Amino acid sequence: MKNISCYVCKKEKLTKNEIGLTKKLIDKNAKRFYCIKCLAEYLEVDLEFLLDKIEEFKDEGCELF
Ligand SMILES: [Zn+2]
Repeated sequence: MKNISCYVCKKEKLTKNEIGLTKKLIDKNAKRFYCIKCLAEYLEVDLEFLLDKIEEFKDEGCELF
């Protein structure tokens, strides 16, 4: 797996979930990725909301998660 880091805080080795969320919520072809914390700030939502989303996408059988 590629070592992708957060565009904002430079945290390295983003998880599959973080990468998947960026793709799902920002852009399928995103070139900048966000860790879950920075993504929450960027989208102005709670961390909880994003964690729920991950579960939702998993339940849908999304191949990004
Ligand atoms: Zn970050």
